[in-house]
Amino acid sequence: MIVVLNPNSSAEHVDNIVGLLNRNGVDNFVVPGGRQKTVEVFGDINGLDRSVLESLPMVERILDRGGPILAVDRRPDDATFDIPLGNGATIGGKKIAIIAGPCSVESLNQILDIAMAVKEAGAVALRGGAFKPRTSPYAFQGHGELGLEMLARAREETGLAIVTEVMRCDHVELVAKYADVLQIGSRNMHNTQLLAAAGEQDKPVLLKRGWGATLDEFLLAAEYVMLQGNRNVILCERGIRSHETYVRNTLALAVVPEVKRLSRLPVIVDPSHGTGRSHLVVPMSNASVACGADGLIIEVHNHPKAAWTDADQALDCDQFTALARGLEAFAGACSRTL
Ligand code: PEP
Ligand code: MN
Repeated sequence: MIVVLNPNSSAEHVDNIVGLLNRNGVDNFVVPGGRQKTVEVFGDINGLDRSVLESLPMVERILDRGGPILAVDRRPDDATFDIPLGNGATIGGKKIAIIAGPCSVESLNQILDIAMAVKEAGAVALRGGAFKPRTSPYAFQGHGELGLEMLARAREETGLAIVTEVMRCDHVELVAKYADVLQIGSRNMHNTQLLAAAGEQDKPVLLKRGWGATLDEFLLAAEYVMLQGNRNVILCERGIRSHETYVRNTLALAVVPEVKRLSRLPVIVDPSHGTGRSHLVVPMSNASVACGADGLIIEVHNHPKAAWTDADQALDCDQFTALARGLEAFAGACSRTL
């Protein structure tokens, strides 16, 4: 059982709860950190009158299991959080946000070329990995800080917000110095230390679903970020691994309306990693908007066949421009704009 305290409760309030639990012989643990204090209660609670706990003014609610609380708080009339990207654009409002760019930052010319093309086509943010999670340790791991500098240069030239991945706790400060949005990748969705570290800084966090994670685990990962005080979490469905082999991942689009029902966090879709095949990116982008996604993150390359990473799923700049045009009808049908 979890006792959730009001956000403005003091240390004394926490002591009062702990004192009450101790007097009733109930083991408990105060969860450290976080804006909203929680106390976990263990074992046999038969001797404890739950209504007494519930009636205390500092107690916000009591849950029978460990959350999520902050990530799942939507009532029927609530709007999705509209998260600012730092360049005047937002994700979560009426306008569908498109983030586009290469899988990896390869060179300054490459990133500038692509940035200008995706900006022209209507993207609000540029993606590009400077720190790359690779299956093989012998494969290109990204240009690191040099890649971040190239992304910052692309922002100067285009005004696009920068979305880039952070993989280590001790890189959070460095990546946040250059990026507008910190991406936490699929492989790191379960890295609770990294999630908490991203929650301690102010930039929005784009959290990708672990490829083997349930929706509940995905939302609990968001909770780790939010508990540290950073409520600006953008959820990203990027496909899960299944028995299917003709696609790289199986894009689980039902997550989009389900997140909308449960949470105020915006949810976007990555049809590039979600399929791994460039010819499937357009239809799955259309489907994502049609089922209520707040945005898309799409891999685009100026020479897809020569891309250093994920060449099979990259659109070229013209294909991306056509994709963006084609989305207008789907957005309009859902009372959204591009
Ligand atoms: C990426 O977006 O660059 C990436 C590595 O994606 P994922 O974490 O979803 O595999
Ligand atoms: Mn990629």
